[in-house]
Parts: sequence; C-alpha cells; structure tokens
Amino acid sequence: MRLAESTWTDARDADTDLALLPVGSTEQHGPHAPLGVDSTTAAAIADAGADRYADSTGERPVVAPTIPVGIAEEHRGFEGTLWVSPDTFRSYVRETLESLAASGFDRIVVVNGHGGNTDAIRELCARASRSGDAYAVGYTWFDAVDFDAFGHAGPAETAVIRHLDPGSVREGRLDAAAAGAAEGWGEWIAGTNLAHDSDSFTDNGVVGDPRDGDADLGAELLAAAADRLAELLAAVATRELDADAGSDSDR
Ligand SMILES: [Zn+2]
Repeated sequence: MRLAESTWTDARDADTDLALLPVGSTEQHGPHAPLGVDSTTAAAIADAGADRYADSTGERPVVAPTIPVGIAEEHRGFEGTLWVSPDTFRSYVRETLESLAASGFDRIVVVNGHGGNTDAIRELCARASRSGDAYAVGYTWFDAVDFDAFGHAGPAETAVIRHLDPGSVREGRLDAAAAGAAEGWGEWIAGTNLAHDSDSFTDNGVVGDPRDGDADLGAELLAAAADRLAELLAAVATRELDADAGSDSDR
C-alpha cells in the first residue's frame, strides 16, 4: 500500500504495523543516467519487496513516499547534485519515522539507494529504536545482493535503470561514460581514502563500465534485492522488541 496514493481512512484501517521508507539521493550518475537513479531504485525495490512479502504472508506493508535528497556532498563537483548535511538528514528521516509510528506503523525498514546515506541511517534507526518510538533498521540494497562490480553509475545501477526506465538512459553516451570512468571508488593508501569528493578520481562521475549492465541483469538484481528485503521484513515483523529495549549493542 503506497501511502501517498491511500486515504487517511485506508491508513487507519491498514492491517499492518510494517512500513517501508525509501530514501534516495539526487546526484550525478555520469553523463548517461539520470540524477534520480538512487531514488527511483529505492522506491522500486521498496514496492517490489512489499509485494513479495504480501504474496508470501498476506500482510501488505505500507510504503511511504521516497525522500529524494540525501547525503551526497561528495558529488558536489558535478552539476545538478543536491545534498543536505548529515544532521539535517538524520533529523528529517528520524522525524518521518516517528510520524509513521504515530499512525501505528512502528516496525520500519528504511530502504536506501545511496551509499552516502548508510551510516546516518544506521545511527538514526538506532536512536529511534532505543527511544522506544519505533523499531527501525536500514536496508541498503547493494549491500544485500551478491554483485561484485557495483561501482557508481556503473554496471549495476545502469542495469537496474535500464530495466525500470529504459528511456532514461542516454544510450548514445555510454562509450563516453565508459571512457571517462574510474575503475574503483576513491584513492586508497594504507586503508585510507585520500579523496573526499568524487570529481577527484573520476572525470565524469562514473565508476565501472556501464556498458556491462543490460536490462536483464537489472531485472535479476531487482528481484534479488526484493527477495532479500522480504526476508528482512519477515524478521522485522516477528522480532521480539522487549528483549531489545535498552540494548546498546552494535555489530
Ligand atoms: Zn547511485
């Protein structure tokens, strides 16, 4: 059930305490893919995971609207990129979680499409959970699926977008996108990334070869991400929360 398409009475009558909150980013994805890749992907995975969970349990989680701007200042060298500070992001997302919980949706998975958001999501979910307002965890889809050459605007993301919204990939720019791409993320010395911003190690924002990601691979990655999310939802739905209250343990 997508919250933005439901009425308040639908929300009142919804027979679930599970919510998914997609969180994306508006940031450069090379010359070939749209700035909204991370938001589009997070929203699609949230919908697909909710469907998968509903198919197996009969319970339909609510899917909140996607938060479109995240922690992406590392892409500031490329026009069109938007960002907020980690403090603003944590407050905004946490308060959004708390308002979901106020409607009774107090077991929440934040479905994340952007790596720069991951640490902040983990922190804010821990805070919200410790406060007792909600139980929340973050799910970052590319950490959950088994795929090595993730990159940035590389094979995996290009594949998923080709599957979800084929017309949005500028196919005629793919050779140039590959030519200006970096092979890996950052400039690493002694376990330390010397680069703070992506324009210091990639000429056009791309990491990896986007030509390696076709729509079939995109469909496979999306299905795998939805399966893992449904698995996570089942665990969140049945988790004994009293046993976790006050726990300070981080992995
Ligand atoms: Zn991305």
